[in-house]
Amino acid sequence: MPKRSIRDIDLSGKKVLVRVDFNVPQNDQGTITDDRRIEMALPTIRTIMDGGGCAVLMSHLGRPDGAPDPKYSLRPVATRLAELMLGSVQFATDTVGPDAVAKARALKVGEILVLENVRFNAGEKKGDPEYAQILADMADVYCNDAFGTCHRKDGSMYAVPIAMGSKPKVVGLLVQKEIKYLSDVIRSPERPFVAILGGAKVSDKINVIGNLLAVCDKVLIGGAMAYTFSLAQGGGVGKSLVEADKVELAKKLLDDGGAKLVLPSDTHCAKEFNATSERVIVSAGEIPDDFQGLDIGPKTAESYAAIIGSAKTVIWNGPMGVFEMPPFDLGTRAVAQAIADSQATSIIGGGDSAAAIAQFGFEDKVTHVSTGGGASLEMLEGKTFAAVDILDDLP
Ligand code: AMP
Repeated sequence: MPKRSIRDIDLSGKKVLVRVDFNVPQNDQGTITDDRRIEMALPTIRTIMDGGGCAVLMSHLGRPDGAPDPKYSLRPVATRLAELMLGSVQFATDTVGPDAVAKARALKVGEILVLENVRFNAGEKKGDPEYAQILADMADVYCNDAFGTCHRKDGSMYAVPIAMGSKPKVVGLLVQKEIKYLSDVIRSPERPFVAILGGAKVSDKINVIGNLLAVCDKVLIGGAMAYTFSLAQGGGVGKSLVEADKVELAKKLLDDGGAKLVLPSDTHCAKEFNATSERVIVSAGEIPDDFQGLDIGPKTAESYAAIIGSAKTVIWNGPMGVFEMPPFDLGTRAVAQAIADSQATSIIGGGDSAAAIAQFGFEDKVTHVSTGGGASLEMLEGKTFAAVDILDDLP
C-alpha cells in the first residue's frame, strides 16, 4: 500500500514533528565532517515551510547510553541546519523536558525547532509510552523521514506515531524516495533486471541474494564472497577471504539460482594484501595456494559490463574487490562505469557501493543512491519496516 506523504496533507498552521536522521559524522573537536544527512532532510523541511507549517525536528546522534552526553549534542547540527536553511533555527536543550515542551508549544508558522538527541533518554530505546506521549503531544502531524533508522523500532520511530493516535502520520520525501526505489521498483521492475552483489561476506548478504534471485533475471557475484562460491564448486581459492562455514549454503544458492547466478570467470590476485605485492590474473577457481583474490579479473569485468549494458533495471550492492586499494579498484570501477553509462533505472544500495560511486564521481549518473546502510540491506532482503507500516496509507 503506498504511504501518505508530507505532500499529501494540508500543512497550513500545522506543527509537524519530524523524525530525521541527523546522525552526522563529527571529528574529535565536534566539527561536522559530512553534512549530507542534514541536506537530505531539507526537501521535507522546505515542504513544511512552504505549506505554511512549522517543524519540530528530532533525531539521534551517535550512541549515548540513554543519558545526556555533551559529545553527542545536536546543537552543532542545529547551527549547521540554520546555515543551510539561510534562516534561524531554535534548539531545545532537552528532548521531552521543560525546554523542549515550552519551545514546541510557542513555535509559530515558518519556525524550526531542533530537539536535543533522542538517545539522551532511556525511553527512546525502550519505546516508553510516557516518553512517546510527550513528543506526540507537541505536534499535529507526525512525519518519518529517517530512512537510516527505519529498520528499528526505537521510541521516536514507532511508539511516537502510535501515541499520535488519529493525527496524520506520514512519510517524508526521503523515506518516500527510498521505498520507491528499494521496494516498489524491485517488485515490478522493467526487464531485464540485473543485480550485482559484492562485498566481503556471503553471510551478510544471504537473504539479499535469495530475495533478488527470486525477482531478478541475473544476479552477478563479485567481491570476496565469490570465493566462498568458488570453494563450493571445488575451486582453488588460495589465501582468499572465504567463509568455510557458509560453503553448504553457497551450494544451495548455486542450485537454486541455476543459470541466473553468475560467478566471475577470472580473478585478480596478489601474494600479499597490499598494492605493491606480486600480482597475477588467473581463471576463477585456479588461485595459487600462496595468492589471494582481491578483485574480479578483466574478462569478468567486461562480461559484467555487457550484461549491465543490456539491462533495463540494475541494482548494485557491494564492491567487486578491494576498491579502496588500487589497482584492485578496477573491477568495481568497471561495474560503476557500466552502470553510469547505461540507460537503465539504476539503484545503488547504500554502504560501500554508495561510497564507490561517490569516489568515482558517478553519483549524478545513476537513478538513486540509497542513504541507508542496514535499512537498505533489509529492504533488499524483502523485509518491510514496522516503523513505516504503522504510518497512514494513501486513501
Ligand atoms: P561489505 O561491507 O560486505 O559490502 O564489504 C565491503 C568490503 O569488502 C570493502 O571494504 C572491500 O575492500 C572488501 N572486499 C571486497 N572484495 C574483497 C576481497 N576480494 N578480499 C578482501 N576484501 C574484499
